[in-house]
Amino acid sequence: MKLAGQQSQLVSHKRPMVIAGPCSAESEAQMLQTALGLKKVKGVSVFRAGIWKPRTRPGSFNGVGTIGLEWLRTVKVETGLRTACEVANATQTEQALQHGVDILLIGAHTTVNPFLVQEIADALKGVQVAVLVKNPVNPDLALWLGALERMHNSGITELGAMHRGFSTLDSAPYRNHPKWEHALELRQQVPGLAMYCDASHIAGRRSLLRPVSQRALDLGYDGLMVESHHNPAAALSDAQQQIMPQELHMLLQALKQQHTPAEKLKQNAQIEKLRKEIENLDDELMTLLSRRTKVTAQLGDYNKPVEQQTETPDPVRWDLVLENLLHQASSAGIDQTVVKTIFQEVRSQYARTHLYNYGLSS
Ligand code: PEP
Ligand code: MN
Repeated sequence: MKLAGQQSQLVSHKRPMVIAGPCSAESEAQMLQTALGLKKVKGVSVFRAGIWKPRTRPGSFNGVGTIGLEWLRTVKVETGLRTACEVANATQTEQALQHGVDILLIGAHTTVNPFLVQEIADALKGVQVAVLVKNPVNPDLALWLGALERMHNSGITELGAMHRGFSTLDSAPYRNHPKWEHALELRQQVPGLAMYCDASHIAGRRSLLRPVSQRALDLGYDGLMVESHHNPAAALSDAQQQIMPQELHMLLQALKQQHTPAEKLKQNAQIEKLRKEIENLDDELMTLLSRRTKVTAQLGDYNKPVEQQTETPDPVRWDLVLENLLHQASSAGIDQTVVKTIFQEVRSQYARTHLYNYGLSS
């Protein structure tokens, strides 16, 4: 797939391009008041609002529906900001197009479903509109890529990806874990693809918006999406992650934009990959240490109190073990002092818990 990311309106020469607006359209007054505030925020060029809201439980606020598209059009006329909203099927796509929405967002719960993605792609055949495809809820790069390809095959040239994090068993401290390496991998596979960061749905709370946005800029993202509401406390959805337009202004001012040449971006992607590899290795080390602890605990069971003792700690054996480890370290090019420190610490911990307890050592 070849994407015209660099020529796209989705990539502004004044980076980052910022999309902001409420999680949900709630009323015309809420939309206008928020949009007029956002118009004053330097860097914001697109106003977003959720019109149809897929919610986990029935009975919660499902969005205002098509009336919200009228309000979106009013915002466009009154402020000159371009507009964006999520569409999840062909009917919504047609309605958004009829109301002149500039950027269509494919939501994370839609990207997971190739039937829906294809239905939207079919509704977009021959249409000139910008489309941003969010990553699927689960960390499956093929689904994300597949949705982009379906849009591309329908003739959409203004195409970009939006990274909103992934639903994982333990996402803490995030709402959706960023797993940056996936987004960077996508970018490597599709060079030139406009890449946005939906900082709000990754963060899930105001305090994390800044570090998440900064990380995205450091990694060379083209744009940010941040949810903003004139009165977040009264928001009908995602109240805890929305910020007022003035707060968005301060957030954007605080961000440091890197002027990253292509080479630096490549380097950042490489750094991110290596960091991930180290994290995985650390996990493996932790698993091994935990297994070692369990085995030494079994050994400890044989070290009964002195009077019943059948086996004594054997310092000669330990010296041999350590010598062997240091020999291995030196042939593997690992600093011997590091290895010695680690194993001496591990061993004395074992001694403290299993031997000293039984009075086997003073
Ligand atoms: C949203 O942008 O308001 C939204 C519902 O996002 P996502 O599809 O990322 O859950
Ligand atoms: Mn939201």
